[in-house]
Amino acid sequence: MRLGNAQTSLALHSTFTIFAPVDILDNDIKFVAGVGEARAKLLERELGIRTLGDMLSHYPFRYIDRTRIYRISEITDAAGLSYVQFRARVTGMAYAGAGRKRRFTAFVQDPTGSAELVWFQGVKWIEKRIEVGREYLIFGRPSFYRGELSMAHPELETMEQALSRKAESGMQGIYPSTEKLGSVLGAKGMYQIVCNAWALTRDRIADPMPEAVRTKYGLISLRDAIYNIHFPQSQELLRQAQFRLKFDELLGVQLNIQQRRTERLAKSNGFLFPKVGGVFNTFYNEKLPFPLTGAQKRVIKEIRRDTVTGFQMNRLLQGDVGSGKTLVALMTMLLAVDNGYQACMMAPTEILARQHFATICRMLEGMDVKTAILTGSSKAKERRLALEGIASGEVDILIGTHALIEDRVQFANLGFVVIDEQHRFGVEQRARLWTKNEQPPHILVMTATPIPRTLAMTLYGDLDVSVIDELPPGRRPIKTFHYTDAARLKLFGFMRQEIAKGRQVYVVYPLIKESEAMDYKDLTDGYEAISRDFPLPQYVTEICHGKMKPADKEESMRQFKSGEAQILVATSVIEVGVDVPNATVMVIESAERFGLSQLHQLRGRVGRGGEQSYCILMSGEKLSRESRARLEAMCETNDGFRLAELDLKLRGSGDINGTLQSGMAFDLKIASPTTDVQILTVSREAAAEILAADPALAHPANRGLEALRRRYSGREEIDFSRIS
Ligand code: ADP
Ligand code: MG
Repeated sequence: MRLGNAQTSLALHSTFTIFAPVDILDNDIKFVAGVGEARAKLLERELGIRTLGDMLSHYPFRYIDRTRIYRISEITDAAGLSYVQFRARVTGMAYAGAGRKRRFTAFVQDPTGSAELVWFQGVKWIEKRIEVGREYLIFGRPSFYRGELSMAHPELETMEQALSRKAESGMQGIYPSTEKLGSVLGAKGMYQIVCNAWALTRDRIADPMPEAVRTKYGLISLRDAIYNIHFPQSQELLRQAQFRLKFDELLGVQLNIQQRRTERLAKSNGFLFPKVGGVFNTFYNEKLPFPLTGAQKRVIKEIRRDTVTGFQMNRLLQGDVGSGKTLVALMTMLLAVDNGYQACMMAPTEILARQHFATICRMLEGMDVKTAILTGSSKAKERRLALEGIASGEVDILIGTHALIEDRVQFANLGFVVIDEQHRFGVEQRARLWTKNEQPPHILVMTATPIPRTLAMTLYGDLDVSVIDELPPGRRPIKTFHYTDAARLKLFGFMRQEIAKGRQVYVVYPLIKESEAMDYKDLTDGYEAISRDFPLPQYVTEICHGKMKPADKEESMRQFKSGEAQILVATSVIEVGVDVPNATVMVIESAERFGLSQLHQLRGRVGRGGEQSYCILMSGEKLSRESRARLEAMCETNDGFRLAELDLKLRGSGDINGTLQSGMAFDLKIASPTTDVQILTVSREAAAEILAADPALAHPANRGLEALRRRYSGREEIDFSRIS
């Protein structure tokens, strides 16, 4: 093994060990053989990997057997293989496109069949390395086009190379990556870096877990766990490694939650909102356009009760899409205003923030409440108005995106914070908002993702949960259908019919990081096809996606909201919160690629007015069992809670995990709060026991545990006693 720079740097560090112990795992990843400056930058940007420790806790998400070499005829769609290797001879090459869109295809064959290998990036590099007539070992993710095997950006080795390579073990980890990183490193490159990082650290991994805890819960050593998670020596050792690493994560989380709960109960520094004054009452009696639902009333009362106790409120509000959470947010913000405090509301996207601002301004028209908006793309004047008004105390309610948490935003007296659609927010961003005050504001987090109550309690500690379990009256259930791509003409006919009635249509395309380039192509192709079939001037079709300039996005949305455009083609940027009551058709393209909760969120964009609304799920003919079950479930029910349960069953954890994680102040890499319930329970018990004996984790034997706790407490400069 070549150590290169790494050796010098490590030697340097060890000189200082006596004075300031430097953990080997904190060393910069760029010193590892095979990394270097450029790749280190890429690793950090794409995956947040900066140190050896980060690299070693970048765990495989699956393992493949690299001793197995497939025949082309064995690799079929039905076989459901996610990664395979096969051995084949190159029979020809072809180029298509030009410039940045250039693509390169190699045709290969083995005695049982043929396949295509395709490159969209790095064409120059690969064309020099492929020779017609030569045999290669080819590794990658199979896909099928008209039944033909094809592989995008596979890895190639000549047979000589392959035979000389020796693997650490038969099971090779496949690591999460991104499109960009994948095109530079490939699965094998990533694996090689992990191997090198391991070689540097293998003999220097200290175990934070006291012997007694390890024995009691049957945990293998941290070193063995890290070794076997990357290079499993057997299925059983892999299982034990997973158990150990999950246990560590969940214990770290539990130590934080339980310590914080104790601290919080010792404090009582919540703002008091004793008055229900003129602002709230005027709104309630004169402005409210419709009666509140029973559930909305109940939640407002719960919040009101929280804000007179003297403790800081930390409340999670769950309500299905369209259940009217915004109104609850507004009315509780008015409570704060009545008591002389400022309130702010943070939305996950620019579009949503603008929409909330417009809705709230409209509802408060003629009232003596001053509102302002601040987003990343606020123009100078808007920005100045917001910043000055907020600092002077003149502005009562500030609405915005995460621009709200920039340091220069200084509130005069922030008393109440609403965070809409929490799962779009990073933990750090939320944490920064908390620190804007000496005294912590009351916090209301709103989400449409249903989280089982017991789980929420376990994971958020003493966070309170409110539920809106009732939709506003007069809503007609959305009718959902599943069409295959062959029914596109029928779909277009149906869209024409609805548009003729004066309604509007969303067409949504999936967009994920791993296949961004292809996804954008699908989106723009789709937009072009629709524009052709729905021509101007009779029809106006707009497009909206994350790569557009904010001003252009906004203009598209404005045209759609105002009704000037009848069709909006978009990525899931419209997934959360957009409210266009006249839109009655939601078409979801490649619906099989969305998670259930995402599908449900998207569907929630229609059915907001009194008209019958529809959701059309488009997919190819061939579907995995799981995808089919998801689409069927969507056609059967409109109930978000039932869908969430089903998602849990189908996928083990579903989208709930993401929500839980961003709700927590920590980043779990391997444990899943929903599927590892048993480990969660055990770790909770362990934490309670450890803290009962040593509440501050000050005992020398617990030094490792204190480090573990800190690792899962988020950033250090933040006072996390304010988050629970
Ligand atoms: P979500 O909970 O998904 O954020 P919104 O707050 O956007 O839902 O509300 C969805 C729609 O329902 C909005 O158009 C809103 O004006 C309307 N709405 C909210 N509360 C009521 C109510 N009590 N009666 C009738 N319509 C309501
Ligand atoms: Mg909403």
